Amino acid sequence: MTKEQARREVRAALSGGSFRVTKQRLAIVDELAAVERYETAKELHQRLSRKRSGIGLATIYRTLETLESVGAASVRTQGRGESAYLFCSPEHHHHAVCTKCGKVEDVPCRSIGRIERDLTQALRFKTTQHRFEFFGLCDRCS
Ligand SMILES: [Zn+2]
Ligand SMILES: [Zn+2]
Ligand SMILES: [Zn+2]
Repeated sequence: MTKEQARREVRAALSGGSFRVTKQRLAIVDELAAVERYETAKELHQRLSRKRSGIGLATIYRTLETLESVGAASVRTQGRGESAYLFCSPEHHHHAVCTKCGKVEDVPCRSIGRIERDLTQALRFKTTQHRFEFFGLCDRCS
């Protein structure tokens, strides 16, 4: 996804949730979209400080929470209980995670229907939602 697409999606998501779209928020969105991996507020703060953005840690925390609440970021808990965020399109998709560099790539959802049908047949299990994560090495690391 390009930065522009990401910004557009987030703008739409933010205004849909009636949040204000500020320059600082967009700078955080750009940074998070560009890193393509899970980052904590502190890590993002370091990155943005190196660019002399002047954005405070509290603003980053709040913005990341907002992004998650509008479905534009996914969150996971890291080592010391810190939340790490990944820029994520609100559209349903899956992730391919590089176990070496942490890069996360989006995987469109295809061929899942067949697995769901198999489940229904074998277990009489009716799927209402699913989540897949693939682990391996990205193009650069392999
Ligand atoms: Zn995603
Ligand atoms: Zn990698
Ligand atoms: Zn899917």
